[in-house]
Amino acid sequence: MVTTHNLGFPRIGDKRQLKFAVEKYWKNEINQSELLNTAQTLRQKHWQTQQSLDFVPVGDFSFYDHLLDMSFLLGNIPRRAKNLSTNSLDNYFSVARGRSSQSTCCGIQAGEMTKWFDTNYHYIVPEFDQETTFNLDSSQLIAQIEEAKAQGLTTKPVIIGPVSYLWLGKSKDDLNKLDLLEPLIQIYGQLFQQLSQAGIDWVQVDEPILVTELSSEWQHAFRQAYYGLQNSPVKILLATYFGQLQDNLQLACDLPVDGLHIDAINDKDEVNKIIDWLPQHKILSLGVINGRNIWKTDLNATLNWLTPIHDRLQDRLWIAPSCSLLHVPVDLNHETLLPADIKDWLSFASQKLTELAILAQALNHGRATVSDALAKNQAAILRRKESTLVHQSAVKKRVLEVNQAWGLRQSNYQARAKIQKARFNLPLYPTTTIGSFPQTNTIRETRRDFKKEKITEQTYRQAMQDEIKHCVKIQETLNLDVLVHGEPERNDMVEYFGEQLDGYTFSQYGWVQSYGSRCVKPPIIFGDISRPKAMTVEWTKYAQSLTTKPMKGMLTGPVTLLNWSFVRDDQPRSETCLQLALAIRDEVLDLEKAGIAIIQIDEAALREGLPLRKSQWQNYLDWAVNAFKITANGVKDDTQIHTHMCYSEFNDIIAAIADMDADVITIETSRSDMELLDVFDEFAYPNEIGPGVYDIHSPNIPSVQAMVDLIEKAALRISPTRLWVNPDCGLKTRQWDEVKPALENMVKASQKLRQNALSCIN
Ligand code: GLN
Ligand code: ZN
Repeated sequence: MVTTHNLGFPRIGDKRQLKFAVEKYWKNEINQSELLNTAQTLRQKHWQTQQSLDFVPVGDFSFYDHLLDMSFLLGNIPRRAKNLSTNSLDNYFSVARGRSSQSTCCGIQAGEMTKWFDTNYHYIVPEFDQETTFNLDSSQLIAQIEEAKAQGLTTKPVIIGPVSYLWLGKSKDDLNKLDLLEPLIQIYGQLFQQLSQAGIDWVQVDEPILVTELSSEWQHAFRQAYYGLQNSPVKILLATYFGQLQDNLQLACDLPVDGLHIDAINDKDEVNKIIDWLPQHKILSLGVINGRNIWKTDLNATLNWLTPIHDRLQDRLWIAPSCSLLHVPVDLNHETLLPADIKDWLSFASQKLTELAILAQALNHGRATVSDALAKNQAAILRRKESTLVHQSAVKKRVLEVNQAWGLRQSNYQARAKIQKARFNLPLYPTTTIGSFPQTNTIRETRRDFKKEKITEQTYRQAMQDEIKHCVKIQETLNLDVLVHGEPERNDMVEYFGEQLDGYTFSQYGWVQSYGSRCVKPPIIFGDISRPKAMTVEWTKYAQSLTTKPMKGMLTGPVTLLNWSFVRDDQPRSETCLQLALAIRDEVLDLEKAGIAIIQIDEAALREGLPLRKSQWQNYLDWAVNAFKITANGVKDDTQIHTHMCYSEFNDIIAAIADMDADVITIETSRSDMELLDVFDEFAYPNEIGPGVYDIHSPNIPSVQAMVDLIEKAALRISPTRLWVNPDCGLKTRQWDEVKPALENMVKASQKLRQNALSCIN
């Protein structure tokens, strides 16, 4: 018999109940017991949804982040947060957010947050230093085990393993993190004892770093940890996901544990090798349902593949989703507006568990016992394959026509720079902003009212134009050099374009947790991408008509559109990206035709798409950069292309960034004190660059001198003739009364730099 289990269920709730409850608690609108009640109701509902599984996960619930939960369980709490309040939940939130709702005095520094592997989930980074000690507190986990047991369920706690926990954390002094491995193993040993006493048979120990490139030191840490834990009274299911084991395959198979889970979506090719390697006494769990995407599983194809494996492994085979379902929305059944055909191709967390149950039933009792379900699934898979909604021959034909030349500018940067200098006649250290201006409640309401058809199109257009006029006027008063229209018509930089492109659709409740209480609702790319008509030209033209200064056209680039969407799985991502590139290229050319001389193509998420293994980076960068070039480089020499990225960790990808050949790139740098520009000591970046001087994540108003200092630091690495002065990112989350003085100072800073430059020459 095959065994079914799940690695984790989304905790946020099908209608984001947890988000709303937590936020109300932070605002003191509900008390702690109300919050705890909501959490318990959600957990119980989620277990109910999973009750057909042989093991339901426990410990996957979290008020903020499961890595932070682990830090609390291990007693690894930053010293600044210890005993901040006598209430442990408030202490927890204080580490998560920098300040608890209850605290009356000054805040404390929040834990650092970073991306969870290549997902859009962010975790709170565990902190270590020479003083770090551990102290087990499993009370929360045990309480949840009891809670699930009371529902009559067989549970399998899920925790992050000791080696990944250390690897994902950060040493705050010169501590070698691996020095903590031995004491950590002790604590895990104690935890396993307590789990056993609580009646637990199996525990799932996640070691996702096994799919990354590990040094021999870290590989050794795995042996040390699991040999140290091999007398554990509970059985250990070592879980890996998101990628391939490759050079860690043998290690993962050999560790003295009782079972191994692998992501059979991403690591399908290695499954047979793993079966060969895996000792006979271990079970193998195959993640056969994609936990990262929203498409229906092809159940028949999966069964064709699984059946011989099942024949070989028999009771040793477990099946599950590839990873925790944290990365997909909860329940497709709530969607009432999705086109029926498309809805029939999708599967959210709850539906994925049903798919799993069908697979298990077919393996255990024969396909005939689920023939209806299998036939229905096959029909849906077939309809999708052949649908005219998905396949547009004109788009496919055009993709085939693309050649290298489409990605090349007419002349090289030096030649273009001369032509552009003559056209724009910009001063030294030209000033600009990244695109959006503050989005007031009125703007948001107007957009919402228009969507709900509460106001006419004319009223909406008028309101947006008024806002654009307002933004242009302020920028003229501030004396900025290159202006923007302010993006009032956009609620999100991906959604705005997705809504106007064919091949995209949107869910109503398809939320996924990004961090803490923050969720995102990625649009869904289901088919070939095309652009029925121009998307931004009218607004930009209007904005340009209000000023004689250059108005930047503002677009989201193909790689960012791709990386922030749920992407179709029936063709390579690179191909979908190229389709997006062609659609945005048309917009670029339309803007140019409409007289817009400077066009910015944002690639905020280019870095996010980097594969987990460095050895695969180049392949990604090749097609991603190519897509950008196809988008941007069809313009004439006198059109200036800008791009923007929300980070500047460029050291490892700087050559690819340079290869994009944008005339100007604006990046985030102010918080790092320009340290992030160190890369330019070694790499001679050829084009123009605007390192952000105004930290838009903070309400602080930077002083003139602070910004002058930053640019002077940048000028040590990049010729002043190629430097721009701008904020780190868009200003939509800020208030006008912060933005106005900050930009006023920014313009003054630039003027001061120009004067200094003049006096140098004289
Ligand atoms: N143009 C966008 C804005 O200014 C860029 C946002 C981003 O980089 N995340 O809001
Ligand atoms: Zn940005």
